[in-house]
Amino acid sequence: MINSYNPCNLCPHNCNSDRFSSTSGKCCSSAEMRIASYQPHFGEEPELVGSGGSGTIFFSGCSLRCVFCQNYEISHEGRGEVISSDELVDIIFELQDYGCNNINFVTPTHYGPTIAAAIEQAKLNGLNIPTVWNSSCYEKVETLKSLEGLIDIYMPDIKFVKTENSSIYTIADNYFEFASKAVLEMYRQVGDLHTVNGRAVSGMLVRHLVLPNNQGDTRAIIDFIADNVGTQTYLNLLDQYHPAYKALSISPLNKYLEPGEFEEYVDYARSRGFKSPDYIYRSL
Ligand code: SF4
Repeated sequence: MINSYNPCNLCPHNCNSDRFSSTSGKCCSSAEMRIASYQPHFGEEPELVGSGGSGTIFFSGCSLRCVFCQNYEISHEGRGEVISSDELVDIIFELQDYGCNNINFVTPTHYGPTIAAAIEQAKLNGLNIPTVWNSSCYEKVETLKSLEGLIDIYMPDIKFVKTENSSIYTIADNYFEFASKAVLEMYRQVGDLHTVNGRAVSGMLVRHLVLPNNQGDTRAIIDFIADNVGTQTYLNLLDQYHPAYKALSISPLNKYLEPGEFEEYVDYARSRGFKSPDYIYRSL
C-alpha cells in the first residue's frame, strides 16, 4: 500500500503526483511522513480523554488547507520533522505506556498508507487501546476502505455543504460531494460511538465547527447527519471559532460568532431530534 504514494490519488484531489520525488501534490507533502508533535491531550471530548488523555499525533501538511486554520504553520507550511513508520510505532507505544486512552491521528489522510502499516505492526505487537482517525472528512471511500479493521473510532470534522463556501475557504470546491460519502463509509465501518465506563472504544464521533454567518451550512450538516446517519449520532457542535491566518482579512470569517448564533444551531440540532444535550459539547 506504500506504493499509493506514486502516483498519489489518496484523496479526492487525485493529484497523480510522485510523492517519492516531489511535494507537488495539493497537500504539499512528500512520501516522507512528517509530524509536528505528539502528546497526551486533555482538550478532546471527555469520552476520548478519560484520565490518561488522548494520545494525539499531529501530522504536518493537509489536503484541505482551510483559510481559517489555527494550526497553519503545521498544516499549510509543513512544519514538523520526518519520522519513519517504525518510529511512528515507537510513538504509539510511548503514548500507550504513558496511559493514554487512545491513539489519535490528527490530519492523517495524506499519510494513510504509512499510518495503516504502523497500526498493523503495532496491533501485532500489543497495541490494546483504540485508534482514532481525526480528519477533515475530505477523503475517498476507497482510501477509507483500506483502513477498515485498523481504525476503531472515526472523528470526521464536517465543515461545509455549499460549494461556494468550500471553494473560497479551502482548496476543495467539491468538499461535500466527497465528505458526504466519506462519513457514510466511516459509519458503515464502525457504527455509533460505543463507550465502556465512559471511555470511547469504537464508533463515529462527528464534529462540526460553527463558522460566523455560515449561510446555512451548519443547518444542512445537522440535517444530513439526522437524515442519513441518525439522531443517535454523537454530534459535537464546536463554538470555539476565532479568526486566524488568512481569515483575518476575509469577511465574514474575520469576526467571532455573534451572541446567540451558536445557541441557534444547538436548538436546531435538538429540534431535529438529537436527543440529549450530552451529544453536543460547546467547547474543547
Ligand atoms: S494526498 Fe496529497 S498528493 Fe495525494 S491526492 Fe491528496 S493532495 Fe494529492
